[in-house]
Amino acid sequence: MTYEVTAATREYLLRRHGLFIDGEWRRPQEEGELPVEDPATEQVISQMALGGKADIDAAVASARAALKGPWGSMTADERGRVLLKYADLIESRSQLFTELAVLDNGMPYVLGESTGMFCSMFLRYYAGWTSKISGMTLPSSGGGRRPQDLLAYTLREPIGVVGAITPWNYPFGMEILKIAPVLASGCTLVMKPAEQAPLAALLLAELAHEAGVPRGVFNVVTGLGETAGAALAAHSGVDKIAFTGSTEVGRLIVQAAAGNLKKVSLELGGKSPVVVFPDADLSKAIPGAAMAGFMLQGQNCVCGSRVFVHESIADAFTTGLAAAAKAMVVGPGFDRSAMLGPVISKVQRDRIERLLATAEKEGARRLCGGGRPHDRGWFIEPTVYADCTPDMTIVREEIFGPVIAVQTFNDHDLERIAEQANDTVYGLSGSIWTRDLETAHRMVRLIDAGQVGVNCHAAMDPSMPFGGNKQSGWGREFGQEGLDLYLKTKAVTVTW
Ligand code: ADP
Repeated sequence: MTYEVTAATREYLLRRHGLFIDGEWRRPQEEGELPVEDPATEQVISQMALGGKADIDAAVASARAALKGPWGSMTADERGRVLLKYADLIESRSQLFTELAVLDNGMPYVLGESTGMFCSMFLRYYAGWTSKISGMTLPSSGGGRRPQDLLAYTLREPIGVVGAITPWNYPFGMEILKIAPVLASGCTLVMKPAEQAPLAALLLAELAHEAGVPRGVFNVVTGLGETAGAALAAHSGVDKIAFTGSTEVGRLIVQAAAGNLKKVSLELGGKSPVVVFPDADLSKAIPGAAMAGFMLQGQNCVCGSRVFVHESIADAFTTGLAAAAKAMVVGPGFDRSAMLGPVISKVQRDRIERLLATAEKEGARRLCGGGRPHDRGWFIEPTVYADCTPDMTIVREEIFGPVIAVQTFNDHDLERIAEQANDTVYGLSGSIWTRDLETAHRMVRLIDAGQVGVNCHAAMDPSMPFGGNKQSGWGREFGQEGLDLYLKTKAVTVTW
């Protein structure tokens, strides 16, 4: 398979990427670069600059100054127009977005294509919010004053400088989740993208400036998590950290943020249940469960990695699920027939293989997958295990790979089934597959997760709040709640 990327993508990859600070490209203060690899070919496709603490300091200083600059005095309408123009610019570069997403992350072409569309849609949604950020007037009787002698109201103000630390699984998408509400709220931003897929954030910063975002409002420092990321999380000039990544690093972020008690929102790991009742339409539930578990090679925080199916349909369901897995073409994202690409890195591929070996040692029965379908690239076949039990490592640990563990239930005791589904430290997503309204609605309330789908898994929309319970995170992104993450309330009392 050969695929020629467009000239714009070639030119972008060949650039000597710097850090984007105060509206200009800069070299890192302590010089250094890291190769960027295409996980489908193992080839180096570009370079990223290794920013460190001094660069984070410069970016935070720029973001602080920008709060007071033209950005701080823009009207809501002007800010909204900037976001709309930003969305248009992204749309006009859709081919570049698609190709970079495929190269940076390994995702299949169709997913890459949805990347630019998702970014534009998300920006337009939050562009609409700029003119709807409002406080309230309140019936205060402060100090016994009459209503005619007092005015009490609230102001909703930008929280200040936001530090955003993002993962590699959806380049562009994961960044825009932070960028859109941060800009809509009037905050400023220092972003530290994942070192495995750093190119998207740089392009997004460049286009934001082309759209009219003033200098210093949106800075990007590429670099390693333990240096640049840690410096951002601990920085006393940052008012809020918005983090998406592993639960383990989420804990480190919380500790680092304690210094100046900055606000923190976290979107972390998951081990989401997919519960299939005996009356489910298997022609939908089987492909639905396959996509829930295998989309983007299972490198999703919402991945439906734990399937619970009623014993009476378990054989039909697991046979169908294994057949669906075997039918999925695994290959480089530019191969249009590929439904699954590689996982992100050798480290991750090796880790998944170790977990598969553990699964077998612990008694899980492999129905399909587990092999390496290609000699080159970090590919792994979609894998289904039956006969799983709650104590198994593949049932407990987030894998971030294409692995589904199937367990069964044999009654209609919804509380008990939910207990089984909720038996995890995570609580991000989940889905229920049934044609019975009562079962569906009762189960929705019993599942301990920030998001539940009925006959669908992990449906996303800019208007729908997204985030996790338990160790899956703090706060909700998307929707109005996603905007609230970047606003603070001031209570004002006026007397005369
Ligand atoms: P994943 O497991 O998906 O790779 P991580 O949680 O390791 O997720 O990484 C998510 C983001 O957090 C990346 O941008 C990474 O560089 C950053 N990161 C990793 N370690 C730290 C840390 N100690 N402090 C701040 N950020 C970090």
